[in-house]
Amino acid sequence: MLQVAINGYGTIGKRVADAVRAQPDMEVVGVAKTRPNFEAEQAVENGYPLYAAIEERADKFDAAGIDLAGMVDELVDAADVVVDACPSGVGADNRSLYEEYDTPALYQGGEDADVADVSFNARSNFEDAVDADHVRVVSCNTTGLSRLVAPLREEYGVEKVRATLVRRGGDPAQTGRGPINDILPNPVSLPSHHGPDVNTIFPDLAIDTLGLKVPATLMHMHSVNVTLETETDAAAVRDLLEEQSRTFVIPEHFDIDGAGKLKELAQDVGRPRGDIWENAIWGESITTEGKDLYLFQAIHQESDVVPENVDAIRAVTNAADARESIERTNSAMGMGI
Ligand code: NAD
Repeated sequence: MLQVAINGYGTIGKRVADAVRAQPDMEVVGVAKTRPNFEAEQAVENGYPLYAAIEERADKFDAAGIDLAGMVDELVDAADVVVDACPSGVGADNRSLYEEYDTPALYQGGEDADVADVSFNARSNFEDAVDADHVRVVSCNTTGLSRLVAPLREEYGVEKVRATLVRRGGDPAQTGRGPINDILPNPVSLPSHHGPDVNTIFPDLAIDTLGLKVPATLMHMHSVNVTLETETDAAAVRDLLEEQSRTFVIPEHFDIDGAGKLKELAQDVGRPRGDIWENAIWGESITTEGKDLYLFQAIHQESDVVPENVDAIRAVTNAADARESIERTNSAMGMGI
């Protein structure tokens, strides 16, 4: 059993902990938090040993009546792999702690690419992370774009990707984020950072991305144009995307007209926290014009990276190859709508 530690138990960390616990070959050795909020309370309630991420703040947990199992360095020492799910930039500060205990570490997409030796997406470059000590699981948007690009490159070749990313202003719990009533080109200058980030997975891919931010919290929405190297038709692309295990092609008869109904569907099918781990691609949006492919896909920012973290754990420990790992992760989590 792989012993996995989660440092940073927020939006991503708590989801990764639950996904790790569901795996037949992994155990959560503990989770670390900086403060005794509702998520700390829930971690203990869920049976995860809770460690203080900052020693000077450990007494705050005592004061709140929350039992600690120890300090974060003991957790890192006890783990085979640590998943760092701290806010952007904190992961880079934590790297020396993981090095001190010689514990392989995964970082999240909010970190700069140079925090790690490899940027990771299971479908695209699993092998690059095998036995690596420091791996960055790319952001939600980069994960969504990589999952789409990987099969298209293999099947048709890709000349160029152009994607416009309509991004949620914040996650539902991020009360301080915005805009509240505006539409922001973000960033105003082109390209947005997403294209270069996809190049950490596919270094030779021609890709331009543009970003906007809107007053929404549910999901991101991508409007994608891919110029393929060989001509095909929409039905063939649809078949290809339906065959992939982490792309969900929304059937027309579901009558889903946006992110709100997608989230409702996720809750109806019993997904934990209403999570959608797959890219959600509108079937009728898949259109071809010569070598140009167009489609819309929605990306659930809080959860699409979760199965990728699970696969990255197996990659760094060389516990399975890409196919085996993806199948095991999918089956344990209940992937596929
Ligand atoms: P979050 O703020 O929801 O959770 C981070 C947690 O880490 C919080 O519980 C915070 O208290 C804790 N923390 C802060 N400093 C810490 C420290 N020094 N040691 C241990 N814990 C500490 O953030 P999040 O949304 O889960 O984001 C985490 C990472 O995942 C970021 O790199 C982010 O860019 C990336 N990411 C986020 C999303 C998303 O939409 N939320 C999607 C993909 C990737």
